[in-house]
Amino acid sequence: MWIAKTKAELRARLDVGSRPVVLVPTMGALHEGHASLISMAREKAGAKGIVIVSLFVNPIQFDRAGDLAAYPRPLETDLVVCETRGADGVFVPDAGEMYFPDRSITITENSLSEHLCGATRAGHFDGVCTVVLKLFLLTNCDAAVFGEKDFQQLAVIRRMVRDLDLRTEIIPHPTMRESDGLAMSSRNARLTPEHRADAPRIRRALLAAAGESDAATILRTAGEIIGQSHFARIDYLSLVDAETLTPTKSLEKPAVLACAVFYGEVRLIDHIAVTADA
Ligand code: AMP
Repeated sequence: MWIAKTKAELRARLDVGSRPVVLVPTMGALHEGHASLISMAREKAGAKGIVIVSLFVNPIQFDRAGDLAAYPRPLETDLVVCETRGADGVFVPDAGEMYFPDRSITITENSLSEHLCGATRAGHFDGVCTVVLKLFLLTNCDAAVFGEKDFQQLAVIRRMVRDLDLRTEIIPHPTMRESDGLAMSSRNARLTPEHRADAPRIRRALLAAAGESDAATILRTAGEIIGQSHFARIDYLSLVDAETLTPTKSLEKPAVLACAVFYGEVRLIDHIAVTADA
């Protein structure tokens, strides 16, 4: 498995004729969720294809300096995960390699990003779109695998691909969870033991709520279960149209119940599909 730290090294590695390239963009601190994305990319690429994992803690998508500083960066173990799951190459640029100090172009998505995480994290999805577009261009990838865990991110990336006529196929991967239901996240490692023990209530709340049959009861049920925690602080809890991500009070169209919850400084997200016949 090769490791490229610069764009020039990456381009040299990819100068190998017409082999399909499948990209798995990540910020590192890889867990089983990321590892499954890499396995899926390996399957998609086939024996002749090239699977690239990018490990880049993208500074321009962080809205809180403390979160960026605290983001774990265990490079050595990440490389082992990439190799074990069959990646051919890893792209590990530093921020100075990715961004010119006077960079002045940013990709902005103006609709789906207005809601959920976008409403409370100013500029977050601009940062995501900008880095993902750069990674698509740098790798010229045929396909890229994204986790459904970041469901708004997946929707925004799909919109970018559609609206900018990008050639990359977007492959979704289901959310991987711990045995107690907590969605795997690089941020889980920063939870205190008490917070970690409490956090599975997020999933329990969403599952209980999704069984209800009207929007108000759905929101109340989830809000109550999370609200009973001594530690959890709800950033948002929203029922949204699955396509537009706008808040909805009706279950006539597919809807998603999504939340972000703080445990101390650690912000966790999760969501569940809700349908009228749930
Ligand atoms: P991140 O490094 O957190 O930005 O995530 C990199 C990719 O892994 C994104 O496409 C995420 O949606 C995906 N991912 C993160 N956590 C999970 C999970 N628990 N299950 C599936 N995919 C995940």
